[in-house]
Amino acid sequence: MHKKLFIPGPVDVREDVLLKMATPQIGHRTKDASALQRSISDKIRKVMYTENEILLSTSSGSGLMEGAIRSCTRKRAAVFSVGAFGDRWYKMATANNVPADIFKSELGKPTTPEMVDEVLATGKYDLITITHNETSTAIMNPVEEISELLKKKYPDVLFCLDTVSSMGGTKIPVDELGVDVCITSTQKCLGLPAGLSICSVSKRAIEAARQVEFRGLYFDFVELYDYIQDKDYQYPSTPSLAHMFALDYQLDNILAEGLENRFARHLEMAKVTREWASKHFEMLAEEKYASNTLTTIRNTKEISVSDLNKELGKRGYMISNGYGKLKDVTFRIAHMADTQMDELKALLATIEEILGL
Ligand SMILES: *Cc1c(COP(=O)(O)O)cnc(C)c1O
Repeated sequence: MHKKLFIPGPVDVREDVLLKMATPQIGHRTKDASALQRSISDKIRKVMYTENEILLSTSSGSGLMEGAIRSCTRKRAAVFSVGAFGDRWYKMATANNVPADIFKSELGKPTTPEMVDEVLATGKYDLITITHNETSTAIMNPVEEISELLKKKYPDVLFCLDTVSSMGGTKIPVDELGVDVCITSTQKCLGLPAGLSICSVSKRAIEAARQVEFRGLYFDFVELYDYIQDKDYQYPSTPSLAHMFALDYQLDNILAEGLENRFARHLEMAKVTREWASKHFEMLAEEKYASNTLTTIRNTKEISVSDLNKELGKRGYMISNGYGKLKDVTFRIAHMADTQMDELKALLATIEEILGL
């Protein structure tokens, strides 16, 4: 039996989207391949509210995260971490010999503009990375306030944003926020299988990257960017055309739903989940920073999450335990992509029935 996935990626994929992956292959050096990549880029620009160029990479989101910090850091990167995925960005920097420092918030707390200000005031850094939506703690960082600070005091610092678990589920106006590199991947709020990473990139981020000597090759932003300009929207290596067919099609679905409608649907589901969490357990995040795409719940009743998941599995559902240090003391319910309110409510009712709440 298929288990309906309420885990924060991979998510359930609509049948019609899955079928698009079975589209017959085309040559990746054909006009049709160019048209496909251009079409995806135009639609993604709408989802991201940006005029910037779009890079695709046949990898999961981590690929372009590593590519961004390696390609675009000239002097030193300041990595702000609010959990597992910020920590990973720092690991990527050090593994590539990119000068970087990490600035961690207390678990469950956001990156504040005050923290960013204090760090950037040293003048040591020319790039920062921020996790928009931390999937371990389910908090959303105050990116508007951070963006204001950067515009006012540090306009030359490059702004890289990880929106892997939020793009397509909540509004992230990339150009308004002045984000230079905004990264996401297919298997979370966009509602596709994992395998493509997507980012927007500003001209000045590419100009910065041109000054960096060793950028690797597969995830080199200059290589990907120049290929698009010189070869009419093609890809340096063979991309996953299957993902591209499905993404192009799913972006039509997303735009047909209406972005504002889609964001509202996610928010409504988040509100129901938060209310349910507060009634039966406790929220990990403060309300102000609570994520709109998933909820991390404190396991105050000390239930066995793995037993719960076993019982849920028999009934056709799957949720997620905590991540990393939070493995046993929290559990997570994702409400992203094409999940509908009635499905979420059915899941919550099933959990209540199993736990006798
Ligand atoms: C899932 C996730 C990643 C990693 O993305 P992959 O596509 O699995 O490589 C990075 N950042 C955040 C916030 C995530 O949720």
